[in-house]
Amino acid sequence: MTEILSSYVAGDWHTPGGSPDSARVVHDATNGQVLHHVSSAGIDFAAVNEHARSTGISELQKLTFHQRGVILKKLGAYLMERAKDYHEISFSTGTTKRDGFVDIEGGIGTLFAYSGVARRQMPNSTVHLDGGVERLSKNGTFVGRHILTSRQGLAVQINAFNFPVWGMLEKFGPMFVAGIPVVVKPATDTAHLTSAVVADMIESGLLPAGAIQLISGDVTPMFDHLAEQDAIAFTGSAATAKHLGGLECVRDRGTRFFAEADSLNFSLLGPDAGPGTEEFDLFVSGVVAEMTVKAGQKCTAIRRTFVPEEHREAVAEALVAKLATQGVGDPREKSTRLGPVVSDKQRDDVLDAIDEITSAGAHVLTGGREASDELAKNLGGAYVAATVLQADDPWVDAVHDIEAFGPVTSLISYSSTEEAVRLAARGRGSLVGSVVTHDAGFATEFVRQVAPWHGRILVLDRDDAEESTGHGSPLPTLIHGGPGRAGGGEELGGLRGITHFMQRTAIQASPDMLTAIGGEWVAGAERRTGQHPFTKTLADLRLGDALESEWRTVSLEDISHFAEFTGDTFYAHTDEEAAAANPFFPGRVAHGYLIVSFAAGLFVQPDPGPVLANYGLEGLTFITPVSPGDSLKVTLTAKCITPRETDEYGEVRWDAAVVNQNDEPVANYDVLTLVAKE
Ligand code: NDP
Repeated sequence: MTEILSSYVAGDWHTPGGSPDSARVVHDATNGQVLHHVSSAGIDFAAVNEHARSTGISELQKLTFHQRGVILKKLGAYLMERAKDYHEISFSTGTTKRDGFVDIEGGIGTLFAYSGVARRQMPNSTVHLDGGVERLSKNGTFVGRHILTSRQGLAVQINAFNFPVWGMLEKFGPMFVAGIPVVVKPATDTAHLTSAVVADMIESGLLPAGAIQLISGDVTPMFDHLAEQDAIAFTGSAATAKHLGGLECVRDRGTRFFAEADSLNFSLLGPDAGPGTEEFDLFVSGVVAEMTVKAGQKCTAIRRTFVPEEHREAVAEALVAKLATQGVGDPREKSTRLGPVVSDKQRDDVLDAIDEITSAGAHVLTGGREASDELAKNLGGAYVAATVLQADDPWVDAVHDIEAFGPVTSLISYSSTEEAVRLAARGRGSLVGSVVTHDAGFATEFVRQVAPWHGRILVLDRDDAEESTGHGSPLPTLIHGGPGRAGGGEELGGLRGITHFMQRTAIQASPDMLTAIGGEWVAGAERRTGQHPFTKTLADLRLGDALESEWRTVSLEDISHFAEFTGDTFYAHTDEEAAAANPFFPGRVAHGYLIVSFAAGLFVQPDPGPVLANYGLEGLTFITPVSPGDSLKVTLTAKCITPRETDEYGEVRWDAAVVNQNDEPVANYDVLTLVAKE
């Protein structure tokens, strides 16, 4: 027997000895040569479970979100230096260099993206606040808010063969930031590429012990160990998703299950986008790209190509002509646009799916079984010819139900917007749809109606085409997933992707308690005045450190001067009669920005000190109008203190509350500053 792929479990590499019955053989997709065997025989799954729980959770959750973000950034850089090695391995999975970029550089890119989300959108602590404070009582002594904490469990990722790097990293990034140790189970056919990346992740020495384990081969015994705090994140076929969704740990023990499964995505040509328009060409190029990239083995590939009845022939001709120009062959060759599918088995599955669709009523415009057999004979690998099927009856079930997971699409025509909407929804839930149109009226009507059936929609036209990332690319900041048949799960989506692996808890408490628990000062909690808080470094500053300013009276001259000086001569500040006629004002009132400026003058500490810069205001609202003769006072309170891991300063958010002589609220906002650590 050839080499058996190792697994990384409980902090060590494990290679099954002998010739386990369970071993599966993996071939090079380009020439059919045996590469290695894959088996998880002999793995102590109880030890995997124990290692993740006793070491992984504690080591990972010792770190703050920012510290985890910093590690991800370093890890991304470490892996990027080794990307060339992954491309070499990737060729053996049938992947061209262009396809490899999506998987390898794209996957590493998600680590950078999640590093940014952790460091910019989360606090430098282990508790993330979700939404604002809810006042729950008349006197404000009982308040509530939601917090997110790391679940005390592990996540098992089960990945599809088509994106061995991206599929693992796009899940790992959010899970790592969420503080969840990960057990990775790659698809057998491409496990060697995932394994090479995981080996480097471990070799980097950047990850805390227990943060990642790798199971090459069957992962079934792991499920016996999963319970309430754990998660399974799956990508693959609907059949496997159904099986996993019914596992005892999911059904009876509350393990969270996220699925991203088969999806009959569509691209639709708008009625306005006939031959000769830029949109027509964009549409044809988009369909061809999604058929050839990764040989169509993409969860987001365009399986259903919708065109207005009157443009069907033109689209068919253009598609067939463009596909004929795509180089087919060894993915190592620069000219190759379409490589083989991952394995002979996958090839059989794709050809069977094509047969099923054609026997249900579609016919082959180009490609198909015979052309594929010819290719495979000539090239000697798992090749499938790019295949366009045409369904004369747009409602043939097979084109909406059968996912031919290869370079295959079905051309389907529609006769009205209403029919287009119903056809798109006939996929019973998809990851992505694209509509190619320059008609905003059509796009609005169509998109609003199909959005409930889709996780993502691309609206492509001449204006965004050049910078568009295309139909098939999930992006770290936008959600990836779809309802219904697409699995019902959600991945990525920036911060959303992290919070999936955390627990949201509503905390009800006094303002002081909520301040302590949430790590952010809450109105009504204790304030400490004394030393001007702007004279304190981050090391000395505490939540609740505050300044209560002197009073300042606003005169009519101040208002007139401000109007002249800034050019803001809006009538409410300059014309007594007109202002009095406005239902919101008693007469001439002070500018909101005058109030904010006076407040700054009241709270400032003018000497050089630890406050380095004011970088903005947030949530500014003006509440009670200020008339000439009113007096203002501001209270500034340290609300949130966020030291930065890699800088000599951090961010301090100050609660600013401006009141008038009657103690009525005039303005509320947060002042954002950068403050030196020492
Ligand atoms: P599978 O659902 O068979 O496999 C996906 C992953 O699940 C693999 O890691 C596989 O491991 C694992 N797996 C399979 N069965 C089990 C099980 N009983 N318990 C635990 N893990 C399991 O999909 P394939 O990758 O084989 O692809 C089959 C078809 O699925 C494709 O032809 C395509 O139609 C569809 N597909 C759709 C995707 C999408 O995102 N829309 C992505 C990939 C596939 P192993 O490889 O070891 O069997």
